[in-house]
Amino acid sequence: MIYADNAATTKMSDKAIQTMACLLQEAWGNPSSLYVHGQKAKEVLEQAREDIASVIGASAQEILFTSGGSEADNQALRTAAELGKKKGKRHIISTTFEHHAILHTLETLKKDGFDITLLDVHENGIVIPAEVEAAIREDTCLVSIMYANNEIGTIQPIREIGAICRRKGVLFHVDAVQAVGHIPVNVVDDNIDMLSSSAHKFHGPKGVGFLYAKKGIRLTNLIEGGAQEHGKRTGTENVPGIAAMAEALKEADANMAAYAEHLIKMRNRLIQGLQEIPHSALNGDATQRLPGNVNFCFEGIEGESLLLLLDDKGICASSGSACTSGSLDPSHVLLAIGRIHDVAHGSLRLSIGEDITEEEVDYIIQSTKEVVAYLRSFSPVWRDLMAGKKEFIL
Ligand SMILES: *Cc1c(COP(=O)(O)O)cnc(C)c1O
Repeated sequence: MIYADNAATTKMSDKAIQTMACLLQEAWGNPSSLYVHGQKAKEVLEQAREDIASVIGASAQEILFTSGGSEADNQALRTAAELGKKKGKRHIISTTFEHHAILHTLETLKKDGFDITLLDVHENGIVIPAEVEAAIREDTCLVSIMYANNEIGTIQPIREIGAICRRKGVLFHVDAVQAVGHIPVNVVDDNIDMLSSSAHKFHGPKGVGFLYAKKGIRLTNLIEGGAQEHGKRTGTENVPGIAAMAEALKEADANMAAYAEHLIKMRNRLIQGLQEIPHSALNGDATQRLPGNVNFCFEGIEGESLLLLLDDKGICASSGSACTSGSLDPSHVLLAIGRIHDVAHGSLRLSIGEDITEEEVDYIIQSTKEVVAYLRSFSPVWRDLMAGKKEFIL
């Protein structure tokens, strides 16, 4: 099997598994306890906090452990909303192609009386900093923009947007779940106030992540309970999971440049190969994208059928479409970059991992070509397109 769905989740690294297994045995104590088992767990926890902080340019007390990216996103938005409310600021700026952890939280905040502006991300899937600046108002309490998109992989001009927010005195949150461990992220250089990250997107375990919040930001806690994480994220910490996350992040960070170089080569080879398919198009900017992300639309086919047939050929991929999650709506991200419904339905996301080989890339290209041709051979939409009853868009 070729696993090309790393944007959905990654396989844990051997080192992360070893760390976790070892700590399940050796650091099983409650880090809040005073005796030796607790203190051992506490040490592991604080070491992980320091390691993670140092990778993203933060200090240890600015890192709060969460159950993953979704929780960190929720907490960041709730925090900004609470702080804004106190100052009578109820306007939030975000984009149309954020993760649902952001979009759905914003919908809830809207019901609570917040005014939400969702910026366009244009055809190339990139936000224009000047448009962020123009959208900022007197009552803006937060700008929340993702570092890299999880479907089309486009990387946003975070540093520039951060500088604008700093200048205007507006809090800046970044969902960096797809970026951390894959491309350089530094909260100081990038002018970031709050940042969400998740271990299972960089070869760590699922169900663990972190929220960076710049010193001085008073976090709103989502869960009431004890005094863990200074009362801002209560509940006994997942010590082995957190330590495995730190291990995975250190590893990803140390290998980042080498992995990126290989991935970009493989990504570009994939893009070149898939572009040979007639009436196809790459989604998102060709170069300002994650090293391992390829996302295409093929006219006249259903992404779902494409996935099933690729699966038969031993290729694990994903469709940009949300059909897999039980909805028939096409992906909100593809609609956000201006793809019409019919075209957005025929999408394919390949998020390759650093161990992919050139032979595997060529196999993916060849298989996709065959499957697309096969599906088109009995697609009524394709027949209409070929007969000139419908116009080609791609
Ligand atoms: C995966 C992902 C999340 C959610 O993270 P979980 O740890 O699965 O909750 C949020 N944002 C982006 C961009 C993601 O890719």
